[in-house]
Amino acid sequence: MIDIDKFDRALKRVEKPARYIGMEKNSIKKDLDKVKIKFAFAFPDIYEVGMSHLGLHILYNLLNNEEDIACERVFAPWIDMEEQMIEEELPLFTLENKEPIKYFDFIGFTLQYEMSYTNIINMLYLGDVQILSKNRKETDPFVIAGGPCAYNPEPIADIIDFFVIGDGEEVILEIMNKYRKFTESNSSRLNFLKEVSKIEGVYVPQFYRIDYKEDDTIDKMNPIVEEASKVIKKRMVINLDKSYYPDRLVVPYIETVHDRIPLEIFRGCTRGCRFCQAGMIYRPVREKSVNTLLNMADELIKNTGYDDISLTSLSSCDYSELQSLVLQLISKYEKEQVGVSLPSLRLDSFSLDVLKEIEKVRKTGLTFAPEAGTQRLRDIINKGVTEEDLTTAVSYAFSEGWSTIKLYFMIGLPTETEEDILGIRDLGYKVKDIFFSMPKEKRKGNLKVTLSASCFIPKPFTPFQWIGQNSMNEFNEKIYLLKNNIRDKKVTFNYHDSKLSYLEAILARGDRRLSKVLIKAWEIGCKFDGWSETFDFDKWMRAFKEEGIDGDFYALRNRELDEVLPWDFIDIGINKEYLIEEFKKATEEELTRDCRLGCNNCGINKSFTGGVC
Ligand code: SF4
Repeated sequence: MIDIDKFDRALKRVEKPARYIGMEKNSIKKDLDKVKIKFAFAFPDIYEVGMSHLGLHILYNLLNNEEDIACERVFAPWIDMEEQMIEEELPLFTLENKEPIKYFDFIGFTLQYEMSYTNIINMLYLGDVQILSKNRKETDPFVIAGGPCAYNPEPIADIIDFFVIGDGEEVILEIMNKYRKFTESNSSRLNFLKEVSKIEGVYVPQFYRIDYKEDDTIDKMNPIVEEASKVIKKRMVINLDKSYYPDRLVVPYIETVHDRIPLEIFRGCTRGCRFCQAGMIYRPVREKSVNTLLNMADELIKNTGYDDISLTSLSSCDYSELQSLVLQLISKYEKEQVGVSLPSLRLDSFSLDVLKEIEKVRKTGLTFAPEAGTQRLRDIINKGVTEEDLTTAVSYAFSEGWSTIKLYFMIGLPTETEEDILGIRDLGYKVKDIFFSMPKEKRKGNLKVTLSASCFIPKPFTPFQWIGQNSMNEFNEKIYLLKNNIRDKKVTFNYHDSKLSYLEAILARGDRRLSKVLIKAWEIGCKFDGWSETFDFDKWMRAFKEEGIDGDFYALRNRELDEVLPWDFIDIGINKEYLIEEFKKATEEELTRDCRLGCNNCGINKSFTGGVC
């Protein structure tokens, strides 16, 4: 346990001490001397962000349900707390027992955002844990990682002992079983790594050798130990309706990003948007039944006291029994003023009746994601929504009293023209015109239309993975074009920093040679890169220069269809032929239908059975 006097002194000097005290409702503190395995669930960002991550709540409760396992939480300390920890010589600690993380058996990072990688390095450093996997000693914790960014684990391969690719619920318990046997045997760290590398979905980077061609592309990647398999097949929870889901959540003392119950209604998506990595890696769709969800809601409301349930998934309006679920939830909890909210709504499956039910308890702003400003470009990215879908949805919303509309777009999409960019403005203006075309007495509230544009990043395992990203100059020109052409006080335009998106693209599409750039960037002072007040692009460019690595090679370069990609060793079930076919259809502005309307042979039903398809 850390020195509590020093801890108390530090707490008195930081902005939000509640980030570090723990002891919240439903937090689980075990006697660490009485458990066999100590697992530190590490979120590489501040408490308020981490506590809103559903995966944390699932794995935290799942592991703590095991009598001989103590799972404790650790978050990246904000700048002020880090200064106090260094001044007081306090190592990084978990919230439950205030135990230094270096005394844990596992430190498990969730990889939600590439720009959190320097925080991983910083947390290991503050925890007095070796940063490089190869330097860890027999008694050091195993540093492991999972989550969406693990679908290209290579940029942090030198830092992580092993990765878990895919759904975590089942595989994490298999790893814990292996570890129980390991602790009973007098075996070595290396042998344990060989043992876990036999588990499907587990990837131990040190067991693979990468050869590069003269042009710096990858020549081949091969296992160098017999236990390691050439292809890592993602893990998938087949029957989500029966899989583990917590009946309680740790309830923070301070406001967090999502202060409500995340009720996951299904995993996967059938829409096939060509820019969307989640829509590819989480296939196939696996739904939970209405009964299961109602029982879960009962328990979670009872055990947390939250008054809002968010029906989470990649496309909640596509849930096959959405109306029935929402109707039953509203009728059950309306009296207690427990509201139901849907994350971003799909324009083409936007259900008026569902919205009517939801607004009975609470009316929040509406968010839609047309993604592109013209139909031509929406077809290329296979978004499958039309301008008519948008105008119908907002007309209804305005007639029902909504006046705050947010529209999400991406800039830098393949084949994009100036007309496509200005199409974003035009859609915003159309929404405004619909509001003011209504009779004055029918208009409610003060209209606010927000257009938010992010910089497109061609992610691994999407049909666009072979396309290079726009340069920062190209992005900035498009941003200025919109800024200079949106001149209406009812229409606001927000946009992402192209520099940050450039780095995110490098880390999303990069290979193992980037680990040294990451460590150099951290040494120069980079951390909390996802925060504008701490992000320092020049330091990053210095790190690339000092390590002799060209970021453009990863972010901006178009790749040949037969190039070996850093993530090719991972099998997500969708075959490469399907991605290439979708890539070609995009260039021909050809749509691919939602596969609920008929299978498009992406391949997942061949390599993974038991899902809906
Ligand atoms: S196998 Fe067919 S139905 Fe299943 S996710 Fe792929 S395209 Fe859709």
